[in-house]
Amino acid sequence: MTAAPDQAAAGGREPTPALDVDAAIVGGGIAGLWLANLLHVRGYRAVVLEADGIGGSQTLASQGMIHGGLKYALSGNLTGASEAIAGMPERWRRCLDGRDDVDLAGLAPLSDRYYMFAGSTALGRLTSFFASRSLRGRIRRLERPDYPLALADPGFHGVVYELNDFVLDTPALLATLLRPVADRVYRHRLLPEEVTQTDAGCELHLPGTRLRARRLILTAGAGTGPLLAHLGIESPRMQLRPLHQVLVRHDYPHPLYAHCLTGIRRPEPRLTITSHRDGDGWLWYLGGQIAGDGVAMTGADLAAHARRELAACLPWIPWERAEMSTLRVDRAEPEQTGGRRPDEAFAAAVGPTVVAWPTKLSLVPDLGDKVLALLAPPEPGPPPRLALPRADLGRAPWSRP
Ligand SMILES: Cc1cc2nc3c(=O)[nH]c(=O)nc-3n(C[C@H](O)[C@H](O)[C@H](O)COP(=O)(O)OP(=O)(O)OC[C@H]3O[C@@H](n4cnc5c(N)ncnc54)[C@H](O)[C@@H]3O)c2cc1C
Repeated sequence: MTAAPDQAAAGGREPTPALDVDAAIVGGGIAGLWLANLLHVRGYRAVVLEADGIGGSQTLASQGMIHGGLKYALSGNLTGASEAIAGMPERWRRCLDGRDDVDLAGLAPLSDRYYMFAGSTALGRLTSFFASRSLRGRIRRLERPDYPLALADPGFHGVVYELNDFVLDTPALLATLLRPVADRVYRHRLLPEEVTQTDAGCELHLPGTRLRARRLILTAGAGTGPLLAHLGIESPRMQLRPLHQVLVRHDYPHPLYAHCLTGIRRPEPRLTITSHRDGDGWLWYLGGQIAGDGVAMTGADLAAHARRELAACLPWIPWERAEMSTLRVDRAEPEQTGGRRPDEAFAAAVGPTVVAWPTKLSLVPDLGDKVLALLAPPEPGPPPRLALPRADLGRAPWSRP
């Protein structure tokens, strides 16, 4: 740790000590915490600044699916998008087994399977596509005895496929990532005016501390846009893609982790369902087509629409008593032509600043590789202690106070 006087000394005031780090990471969602772990293991002096609760924006609102992109292949083709992400479930499994730099050993998935189902066997050319050699090892058609309990009802007469994907409990994931780096994750909303760029990096004028960072790594999700504007960074630019998710509280005793393809007319799952512990039962969380279509609806209209969709796709479950609520949340990403979905994790260096959006939870290991490639070797030594409070974990949208 080095301390150096600042300009205030010349004016006779107490100098604000300057502290040095290799990287100041702004934003403690999955991207910021993942990078903090990776840089810690690789010997970098890094600190994280998080404005609110850790994971509090997209990460805790996400469905926690670690997927290989097969849902992008519903047009019947393997596209660039589905290929870039295909290796991610295996990569994450290495982390869960403690065989990667980011060690997630001890973190049990919420579900170690993810399914696709359709209420009829008539899936057109998708049936032969799913059976094709190119998808071998990534998708498997199940026989009835292997169906997940929510689809094992005699009222269901369709098809079920098992994917090579799994689902993580994002609060537990964030808690696991926080443990090794908790002493360097601080609660502070970085204001644009607190940043100045210097020849050697960036200087952050934080309460009680002048922090000199060789790299400023922006992993602030939607908060990255205003910081880019202040730093005069015109490219990359940020795009926001809105979603309107549905939370379903009910007393049906089984969880479900599945894409519903019943009657789809567009190459997108009609419902993407995950289940999360809710007291003694399960809360079902709905994304997919319904969350995109729901952007133009009021919460009440979307809740009514969701009730009809569930009744159409899973008619053997009584939905009358279910309580619906909705959640609007934006995905923050690098701008794409026509506002399209990016295919890969994104990291770019502009001067001393690194701009990073994972674009998907699944792609965070890829983001880690990309950011590491942009950094010079670390300076030896531990990161300095900042005079800021530690950040706490945020709460998932379905968790009750
Ligand atoms: C509804 C939904 C469902 C999704 N489901 C999946 C899924 O199942 N699988 C998948 O692979 N991907 C999924 N995604 C995408 C995935 O969740 C995101 O790509 C990922 O969580 C983004 O993480 P992040 O760390 O970049 O951003 P965030 O989680 O948004 O974290 C950014 C953090 O930065 C902080 N911050 C902002 N401004 C500042 C500032 N000035 N100073 C300090 N801190 C600041 C915020 O408080 C926040 O905690 C989903 C996304 C959404 C919205």
